[in-house]
Amino acid sequence: RPVIVWFRDDLRLTDHPALHAAAQSGAPVLCVYVRDDDSDGVRPLGAAARWWLAQSLRALEAELRTLSATLILRRGPAAAVLAELAQHSDAAAVHWNEIEIAPHRAVADSLADALTVAGIAYHRHRGDTLVQPNAIRSKDGRGMRVFTPFWRRVLSLGDPPEPLPRPTTLRAAPAQPSDQLSDWQLEPTTPDWAGGLRATWMPGEAAAQRLLADFLARQPGYAEGRDYPDRHVTSRLSPHLRFGEISPRQVWYAARFAAAERPAIAPDIDKFLSELGWREFCRHLLAEHPDLAASNLQPAFDAFPWRSDDAALIAWQRGLTGYPIVDAGMRELWHSGVMHNRVRMVVGSFLVKHLLVDWRLGEQWFWDTLVDADPGSNPGNWQWVAGCGADAAPYFRVFNPVLQGEKFDVDGRYVRRWVPELAGLPNNLLHQPWTATPLELAAAGVELGGNYPRPIVDHKAGRQRALSAYAELRQR
Ligand code: FAD
Repeated sequence: RPVIVWFRDDLRLTDHPALHAAAQSGAPVLCVYVRDDDSDGVRPLGAAARWWLAQSLRALEAELRTLSATLILRRGPAAAVLAELAQHSDAAAVHWNEIEIAPHRAVADSLADALTVAGIAYHRHRGDTLVQPNAIRSKDGRGMRVFTPFWRRVLSLGDPPEPLPRPTTLRAAPAQPSDQLSDWQLEPTTPDWAGGLRATWMPGEAAAQRLLADFLARQPGYAEGRDYPDRHVTSRLSPHLRFGEISPRQVWYAARFAAAERPAIAPDIDKFLSELGWREFCRHLLAEHPDLAASNLQPAFDAFPWRSDDAALIAWQRGLTGYPIVDAGMRELWHSGVMHNRVRMVVGSFLVKHLLVDWRLGEQWFWDTLVDADPGSNPGNWQWVAGCGADAAPYFRVFNPVLQGEKFDVDGRYVRRWVPELAGLPNNLLHQPWTATPLELAAAGVELGGNYPRPIVDHKAGRQRALSAYAELRQR
């Protein structure tokens, strides 16, 4: 009798506990992915993530073919679909890796119930995070809400379990009907807006491994350079981690090994792993607060006087705010499905502070446009930026988009790439074109209010309005 492996956000073969156990059992293996937009509370993927998923499933199919296995695609509520497949194929057992997110757990619980009723065994494995969410508690028994002590506790636990090897063989199971990936319409047709994504990314496990190896080979420089959007020093692993094409413990072990081989890069590796720690932290927060994308972690913010301003929101989404670093970031996002972390913080701060627009609208836009849109990291970071989250940046600290641009895009390469209409301006004017004289603008071919907008809000006035709104909140 075959055993089923249910692939979820773990689209890889190496360090895949469920696949490993199924292969070890010696039984024929059926590999299945279920597209589930129907189960309660499971957040449907945004458009950019759907594009990624399609490529990633193709890559997984190709990897499985090297083991003479196939990937069965099914659509519907995962628990019902899998229970039916298990019965139909007379499976002896179903294996899967847990996703420690409440609605995903609920789906897995109903599958477990249905399999129990049908007398089919099931095995729930772990490997999505370095440390199991809920395993780290503060003294009062609740989840930890401050990153530094959280990460110290994670480090004090020592190394996570070692990654599992990729199976060398799989016994093929009799074929089962499968959907066609193209019928799922995960990718855009007309208009085909995915050209920038295709040019930027190579989804799949093999590409993830290459990125990790390249990243580790080119250190040092991460700790110092990670804040500069044009330097390309970060790993770019986030969408691969999001879809589980690589596991956090593979990253952990490879990074530790690299640091042991080259002690000079140890500080960079420590910093890099602590960033991976933020992913863990957000996952732990999400496990504790399943409605992280909807509710302020600090309830005091429920009364925050957000403005409703569709025109400002649209200008922000399109990269037409008149602030070059903000516009560069938003256009990078639209074009390539990603944005550098420093710039995410700047554009996020601009939306919630200068424009006083509710962080949830920014979170939703990111959810739809980021290839790495993650149910923990996206809302967790938005709450951090908005000042209403766990361990958040204080609301009254308002990023100055001009100074941020001048500091982190010193020679203007990032802005010139994404806002080419400003490329002719000299560096001292690039981040604040409205201070240029008419002659300087004309020489650079810039027409403010013409081919590039004037600022939609004055920095000082926007900052003051944000601080007044915050003061009002505190008086309530
Ligand atoms: P590296 O610097 O190489 O870091 C390694 C890994 O650590 C990343 O791949 C990522 O998995 C993790 N990581 C790094 N920084 C963070 C962080 N601040 N929070 C959580 N994990 C982190 N990251 C996502 O993966 N998905 C999101 O939806 C997401 N939304 C964000 C929204 C906002 C408003 C902000 C400010 C940040 C968001 N981030 C998100 C975090 C961060 O911007 C990205 O993880 C990072 O830019 C990815 O680039 P990298 O892989 O080169 O990172």
